[in-house]
Amino acid sequence: MSTATLAKGIEETLDGPIGYDVQRVREDFPILTQKVHGKPLVYLDNANTTQKPRQVIDALATYYSEYNSNVHRASHLLGERATEAYEGGRAKVQRFLNASRFEEIVFVRNATEGVNLVAQTFGRKYVKEGDEILISAMEHHANIVPWQLLCAEKGATLRVIPINDAGELLLDEYEKLLSPRTKLVGITQMSNALGTVNPVKEMIATAHRHGVPVLVDGAQSAYHMAVDVQDMDCDFFVFSGHKLYGPTGIGILYGKSEHLENMPPFMGGGDMIKTVTFEETTFGDPPYRFEAGTPHIAGSIGLGAAVDYLTGLGMANIAAYERDLMAYGTAALSEVPGLRMMGTAKHKASVYSFLLDGIHPNDAGELLDRQGIAVRVGQHCAHPVLQRFGVTATVRASLACYNTREEIDALVRALHKVRELMGA
Ligand code: PLP
Repeated sequence: MSTATLAKGIEETLDGPIGYDVQRVREDFPILTQKVHGKPLVYLDNANTTQKPRQVIDALATYYSEYNSNVHRASHLLGERATEAYEGGRAKVQRFLNASRFEEIVFVRNATEGVNLVAQTFGRKYVKEGDEILISAMEHHANIVPWQLLCAEKGATLRVIPINDAGELLLDEYEKLLSPRTKLVGITQMSNALGTVNPVKEMIATAHRHGVPVLVDGAQSAYHMAVDVQDMDCDFFVFSGHKLYGPTGIGILYGKSEHLENMPPFMGGGDMIKTVTFEETTFGDPPYRFEAGTPHIAGSIGLGAAVDYLTGLGMANIAAYERDLMAYGTAALSEVPGLRMMGTAKHKASVYSFLLDGIHPNDAGELLDRQGIAVRVGQHCAHPVLQRFGVTATVRASLACYNTREEIDALVRALHKVRELMGA
């Protein structure tokens, strides 16, 4: 079934998540029909990376088999088609994020590179000795380490917004931490380790009252909820294509034009210049100023197909469906004896991060895998937040648009089995 037809079906019947036909969605994901260790695959490692719909796989295959060419420089038909499709991917992302301008969408490799780009260009230009960068206690390493590197270089200080025991940001503390020394706030819209969804719109408004720009890490949020960068009024927003049902190696940095236009280049090379002599180089305008060298052409095309796919399903429909599934799973998991959930925020999405009494997460992960259940175990590239909760690792099961209540039931059954096998 085409995405358009599917979307039509949903719109016509949508009444909360009831109109969302997850079985039809699943048919679009060829990988989901396989067995692992002789058991049907239950893929619950979506916060790590999501599976790809046929529409994305086909778009990549079509590019490579029908019009593979370099972009912006070929004087032939294939090159024109490639350029059109590559820039078409940018236009689709612009609409997906509701960015006001095409030029505000910069292609990067992933969310990590997006944060590093801002730290190394905007940060290097504006952050001085004695200044402060403010992040939160629940950040992924991708939104910690680039700022630490910048602070070390500049003699600036990294400050951290604390969280409570449920995994929610302490907003009073946040406001107190903002000062004339604060040069940027970097916050995740959704925590990969806890599932907490942060009130970024309000936090941005608060920062702006203090004249401080805000970078939002959308790596976890962008595939679970509709994002509107104009409404949110963030200064920068980053996400990775591979978590958004698209290919690896492509990500997005959205930046307000007023910032991008004043930022120096990130890397030097072809495609990012206006003129080059041995004495002097003049740089291109955004977004090309930040895109040196041959880009990930297939990545943009695949990401464009992923965005089309999600738009077809409707982000509001996906969010409603996943909200329902999340509540179902929270109730079901609470019945597992000895299961301790880390992250119980009121606003939470699609992540269960938990411990089983007396069972090491690595053992649980392995025994779940043997039963066909794919989860992640470990520190989730978020050491500080795990330290905050006094644990060294958790088991993380995370949801996507194709997961079902039956799969949650399978997870719960498998957890009972893990307890039995471990003698817990
Ligand atoms: N930020 C968050 C909240 C994440 O969950 C992740 C990845 O898990 C990242 C950033 C980094 O994403 P990537 O490794 O694709 O750059």
